Amino acid sequence: MTNLHLEGVWKRFGAFEAIRNVNLDLPSGKMITFLGPSGSGKSTLFRLVSGLEQASEGTIRFDGIDVTGLAAHKRNVGMVFQSYALFPHLNVWENIGYGLALRKVPKTQRRARAIELLELIKLPDIADRGITQLSGGQRQRVAIARALAMKPQLFLLDEPLSALDAKLREHMQNELCELQRKLGVTTIVVTHDQREAMTMSDIVVVIDRGAVQQVGSPLDIYRRPATRFVADFIGTSNLLEGTGSPEGKFEFSGGTLKIATPDWLKRDESPAVLCVRPEQLQVMQKADGMPNSLDGQVTLIRDLGAELEVFVRSGDTEFISKEASGVELGFSVGDTVSLQIPETAHLMAA
Ligand code: ATP
Repeated sequence: MTNLHLEGVWKRFGAFEAIRNVNLDLPSGKMITFLGPSGSGKSTLFRLVSGLEQASEGTIRFDGIDVTGLAAHKRNVGMVFQSYALFPHLNVWENIGYGLALRKVPKTQRRARAIELLELIKLPDIADRGITQLSGGQRQRVAIARALAMKPQLFLLDEPLSALDAKLREHMQNELCELQRKLGVTTIVVTHDQREAMTMSDIVVVIDRGAVQQVGSPLDIYRRPATRFVADFIGTSNLLEGTGSPEGKFEFSGGTLKIATPDWLKRDESPAVLCVRPEQLQVMQKADGMPNSLDGQVTLIRDLGAELEVFVRSGDTEFISKEASGVELGFSVGDTVSLQIPETAHLMAA
């Protein structure tokens, strides 16, 4: 098990800064995802960790040992890519044992290790098959087995599931998690899919424009996003811009709300953004004098089968609320309603 430490890491391509001053301390034995939109720099960061790309500045350590200047093949990492990159002229077990062959491990041992890994990925009977005889999902598992053959310190996967259809993808997410737990190897998965990151990870590293925006558990990131970008990128949010004050008030164009004061707002009034998740927002038949509520008009009700989405316009803000499907709402499109905002809604520095 290996922990990963990045200190002041930059990557420049000419004048372009693809990675900007990344500092990370990631514990060993965890399932970690690098999550960000297209072009945010997550693959570049992955390549820096793997050694496929060299940092322009900064230090990368595995278990405290400086690997910054080492090429990928000297870093004891196992890698899997979206394209699988299996060798078509080798059969399944030869593919899995390829790295061991380069290290001059005898054939009988290579085959035994391949068979052991095929058991682990639940494909015990395909050792002698050709790669072209495998389905996409089987190829992906063989690529995973190949990456694990050398018992890597870090198991690194760049968008490993994006070529699979939705159902198989979900299945493979579960299998990968199970495999990771069984082996306990520190694993990093690059993904642009926030649902994938939320379901698979112990730790999510959210990246935008080459910089780390937040590191935390999925729940932490969902409930307490550090920035407006994170709140917007992970799940759905109602975001209100205004001013927070230390005595627990949030003022915005639609009125004043009572909000639990966050630690960062202990001294002076500051520009702030209030993040209210749709399931935190209660829409009710209009009632006067309700604390922490705003008046609004229902613009749309959408029944998605498992849940109902209710859209309400209040002032210049369109709110979205989610309810369980089948509940009696007590209002319809066009009605004036009260929107109740909980005091526990998350307030971020603007
Ligand atoms: P995607 O999900 O689309 O793969 P990403 O988050 O993985 O995106 P990167 O591939 O890391 O993004 O790229 C980050 C930025 O760095 C992009 O603007 C990209 O154009 C730039 N970049 C990456 N590699 C190079 C390179 N070799 N030379 C110049 N620019 C590069």
